[in-house]
This record gives sequence, structure tokens and C-alpha cells, in this order.
Amino acid sequence: MQDLHLLTVRETADLLQAKKVSSLELAEHYLVRATAHKALGAFLDCNPDVTRLAAKSADARIATGNADPLTGVPIAHKDIFVTKDFVTTAGSRMLADYRSPFDATVVARLGNGADGVAGAGMVTLGKLNCDEFAMGSANENSFYGKVQNPWNTSRVPGGSSGGSAAAVAAGLAPAATGTDTGGSIRQPASFCGITGIKPTYGRASRYGMVAYASSLDQAGPMARTAEDCALLLSAMCGADLDRDSTSLDLPPEDYTRGLNDSISGLRIGIPKEFFADGLASDVRAAIDAALASLEKLGAKLVPISLPRTELAIPVYYIIAPAEAASNLSRFDGVKFGHRAADYKDLADMYKKTRAEGFGEEVKRRIMIGNYVLSHGYYDAYYLQAQRIRRMIAEDFQAVFKSCDVIAGPVAPSVAWKLGDKDRKPLDDYLADIYTLPASLAGLPGMSIPVGFGEGNMPVGMQLIGNYLSEGRLLNAAHQYQLATDWHTKLSPLMTGGAA
Ligand code: GLN
Repeated sequence: MQDLHLLTVRETADLLQAKKVSSLELAEHYLVRATAHKALGAFLDCNPDVTRLAAKSADARIATGNADPLTGVPIAHKDIFVTKDFVTTAGSRMLADYRSPFDATVVARLGNGADGVAGAGMVTLGKLNCDEFAMGSANENSFYGKVQNPWNTSRVPGGSSGGSAAAVAAGLAPAATGTDTGGSIRQPASFCGITGIKPTYGRASRYGMVAYASSLDQAGPMARTAEDCALLLSAMCGADLDRDSTSLDLPPEDYTRGLNDSISGLRIGIPKEFFADGLASDVRAAIDAALASLEKLGAKLVPISLPRTELAIPVYYIIAPAEAASNLSRFDGVKFGHRAADYKDLADMYKKTRAEGFGEEVKRRIMIGNYVLSHGYYDAYYLQAQRIRRMIAEDFQAVFKSCDVIAGPVAPSVAWKLGDKDRKPLDDYLADIYTLPASLAGLPGMSIPVGFGEGNMPVGMQLIGNYLSEGRLLNAAHQYQLATDWHTKLSPLMTGGAA
């Protein structure tokens, strides 16, 4: 079969269970594609022998009739999840060639399991490029090069899970993991025309995820459809109390169960601040059309207000760098990772190692983080930010009295051009405006493709739900996808053309 990469996760899984294709055939097909599309910049590390071995054991598991629904389906992981069989760099020179002695819990759950963790038996194709330590919105901050957008290779794929979004949109993997601290699953999913969900903070284990901002970091799946995301999220989530103290003490949930429920009567909150100045008209038009489709399915649009939306930007860009400055202090050239070759003494070794190992954006965040935590500024910046963070979370609780989910844009524009010299770091920070509020509140959020805008680039719609309402978000997204066909549109790289 030539077009295996056109299949969704669900379709791939069905063929595997019906024994119409083997996991090994799938693995070979995708390994060839990964090599053929190296120029996209999505993959950082492949290990074909390991992939083939996992595929063979998945085939054996399917043969026994004792397989999980996802057994044998290929997946690739954002290079922020540690893996014992693949190098883990987090997109940084600091971790060049780093090999972890264990798999992240999410990787183990989706793959071959670990101590006390059952594995779904998915087959890992390799590791995917990302912004250095997940800091960025365009995947232009990776030490290992930029990633291209499969819809138009002169555009960015979004970030920081840009490699994950590009790999899925180019048909280099039917699914990928991503992480979302301030939008890094939703925004690249939106820019690449795929579906992605960030669950409630604590729902998926952070164990083995290279930490950026620990009170915000959350893992989630990226795939072509909401149904695929539901399958993947069911396998990813679950308590991991011994390894991650912020993991929620809840058993795994089957998110596919409610997918077919009617959404008639669903109250969808439309925050006026998400549709104010700054939202590009092409994005707005696609979102408006999507909201009209949801209304046709019986949903009711409810005007709401999230008055502190604009404050989410300064609040996030104080809290995230503060936590990053602390988390990244472990990279000192002693314990693991890069170490400068020449130095005079210990202090000099620290300085040179960190100067060489970290990229510009990471250094900027470390400086901001140390500044806002320093004596004299802590009260003025960090504490204030924490207070407003709490208010942002309360604003959401207030609006969830009158609506069940919230809908709006993911980003103010479609994917911008790669290497745009006029773009400043602040432009990227501002473009996070619609994804940051849900992150600060720890709420689940997702992105689904709803059309195309300027330059024929994909537009994503964001759905935000209350705590632990992933099932409801996936249900609304699935119903939308049953009624429309945006999620079935394939990038030129997927169908064999040039982009
Ligand atoms: N763009 C945001 C940042 O740079 C979000 C990144 C993320 O979610 N990892 O911090």
C-alpha cells in the first residue's frame, strides 16, 4: 500500500487489528518518508533498528489478540520528552547527544510501558524538532535548525511543538506528542492545519518532560482529527503520583466514549476580548464560519467577557521565565549535557558552558526570570503576576456559569514567513494572547482546523473547557469534524507535491 501516510490514527489502527497491514510495514513506510523529507527539519533523531524491533513486537502482540487499540500505530515524540532509545536534546546545544536512562511517563504509556506503567504499544519513529527548551512560537529557536510549514515551506510551522505539527501535517507520522506551556500544542496545530489538545494541568504526567515552566507545562497529542486525539489522550493521561507530585490522582479515562453525543444545546461562550482589534480579518472570517457551523449543530453562542485577557501576556512572560530561570540552573556543565572545553576554574566553567550551551532566546528568558525574582523586584513583578494569574483563573470560573465551552481564535494571524527580519521577540510574545489565558488557569484547550486564510495557510479555532472537560471539548470538535471537511484537507507535502 502506497498511501499509508494518508490514513488517520483510527484508520491505521483498524487496518492493524484487521491484520490488513503490519506494524513493520507501517514503520518502514514512515521511515522512508522521514528520510525523503529531511529538508522539512521535523526529525532530529531516528533509530530505525529500535523502531523495527518495536514494530515487530507490536505485530506479535496483535497476533495474540491481546492488543490495545493503538498497538502498532507509529508515533513520534517532541524532543522535550526523554527517551532511552533516542537522543533527547530539547532543541538545545546544552543537551547535544544527551541520552536519558529512562523514558518519560507519556512515552512509556504510549509505547512499551515502564515500571508500574502499562504501555499502549505504539511504535516510536523518532524525535521531533522544537524550540529550545520549548521557548518560542515559530520553531525558529532550535539549535538544530528551523522547521518548515508543510503547507508552504517558506512559512513557520508555529512553536514550540513545530516539528510535531509539521511531521503530522506532512504525513511523516500519523500522530505526535507535543507540550504546551503557553500554547505550544494549540498554536502549531493551528498553523499546520491539524488537531491538538492540551489537557487540564496535571492530567498527563510531567515526569521525563524537560522542564520549562513547571506550573504550566502540560503534554498532549497532535493528530489530524479530534477522534485521533481522543484515542491518544486516553492512552497518555493518568495519575503518576510517585514521579510527578502535580499529577492529578485520577484514573485514565476513555475520551472516545462521548465523541458521538449530540452537541445540541451546548452553550459556547464567545469572549469579546478574543475578537477585538489585532485579530486578522482572514482568521476572523474562518472562525465566524466555524461558529455558524456549530450553531447549525444546535450549539448556542453566548457573549462573554474575559476582561484580563491582555494581562495574560505580561503575567505569563514574568511567571514562565521565572520558573525557567530556576529550572535551567541545573544545566551547569557538571551533572549532564554540554561542558565548555577550556576554562580556568569552576566559576569560569559554569559561565563558558552556559554561554555556549544556551541560545539567545533562552538567555533572554533566564535574564528576565532572574530579574523578576530578584530582591527589590520580586514584589513588584513576580508576586503581582501571581495575583493576576489567580484573577484570570477566577474570571474563567465566572464565565463557566453561563457557558460550557469557550471558542475563539488560537492566534491573531496565520503562520508568518520564516526568517522574517522585521519580527522582534515581542511580536511573538504578543501573538500568544489567545492561548496564554487557559494556560495560566490550567484549563484544557484545543485547536481544530476551520479553514484557510492569507496565503492559503490554515486557520485553527480554539476551544477551551473547564477543568477535566477534555471529553466535552473532543466531543464538540468531533461533531464539528463530522459536519465539515477542513480536517481532511491535506498539505502538498502529504499528497506528494511541493510546498
Ligand atoms: N510561545 C510561548 C513561549 O515562548 C509558549 C511556548 C510553549 O507553550 N512551550 O513561552
